[in-house]
Amino acid sequence: METRSFGSTGRQVAVIGQGTWYLEAGNATRAVEVLRRGFDLGMTHVDCAEMYGSGRAEELVGKAIAGRRDEIFLVSKVLPSHASKRGVVAACEGSLARLGTDRLDCYLLHWRGAVPLQETVAAFEQLQRDGKILSWGVSNFDVADLEEVSGSELPVCDQVLYHLEERAIEHQVIPWCEEHSVAVVAYSPFGHKGGFPSRHTIRGRVLDEIAQAHGVTAHAVALAFLVSTPQVFAIPKASDPEHVADNAKAGDLRLSDAELARIDRAFPRGTHARSLPTL
Ligand code: NAP
Repeated sequence: METRSFGSTGRQVAVIGQGTWYLEAGNATRAVEVLRRGFDLGMTHVDCAEMYGSGRAEELVGKAIAGRRDEIFLVSKVLPSHASKRGVVAACEGSLARLGTDRLDCYLLHWRGAVPLQETVAAFEQLQRDGKILSWGVSNFDVADLEEVSGSELPVCDQVLYHLEERAIEHQVIPWCEEHSVAVVAYSPFGHKGGFPSRHTIRGRVLDEIAQAHGVTAHAVALAFLVSTPQVFAIPKASDPEHVADNAKAGDLRLSDAELARIDRAFPRGTHARSLPTL
């Protein structure tokens, strides 16, 4: 599994991580086993949020990381409705308790709400001083929001919607993040539920042919395309152990320039910059 530097944290983090939205919707024992299988395969970057299953996803992650916390790059997110100075601290303490840990590796504002950004950042900085979070970042921030939040300290990452059918961030967000050494974390890298191109379409066949040439799945090819940009990480969610194994293979998959160009033609990013898409 390739690792790369995660923004300004100085940490080497797995390029392919694990998402946890709706993980709590299935069998809990299996979900914990699947996460641990992912860790064994090097997918030690785990993304959760207080929102997911109203904290139940964090409880499952807590069970999965028990006894192996030091291997994990653990990320969670605060809801905008909890983004006040006191609200962030209380939300973080709730996440830490559910996760059964004393620290988050990175804590994100899930999306921008009504609380002034400076107030939320001040709370993040307080949590950092207290050792409860090691870094902070943002999610669903377009370039104007990134400019505004970047005062004395930059966020270490921006977690944004990015998959083959939705490449809008390539126009402005990725270049801005590259320039400022901010990690880009691709959420819903398969387009969430049912968003992946069918193998019966021309686009799907392009991925299938490349996948066959490498002995991997089309899903692994899609992930490898997204993380072919040095600043980008991806956090697919999988509750099926075979899916986790497929996704891990993307962490070592190198597509040739010709394969990248073929995927680029099949899934055009669009010629014009547009506002940030969200799910
Ligand atoms: P996703 O990862 O794009 O897609 C998940 C779907 O893909 C599931 O149905 C999963 O099936 C399936 N899948 C996974 N690997 C597969 C494979 N190798 N072959 C075939 N199917 C596969 O969707 P997502 O959950 O929306 O996004 C990923 C993570 O990003 C979330 O879990 C969450 O942590 C984060 N996220 C963040 C935000 C934000 O606002 N910051 C928004 C959305 C998501 P199985 O479950 O059956 O394996």
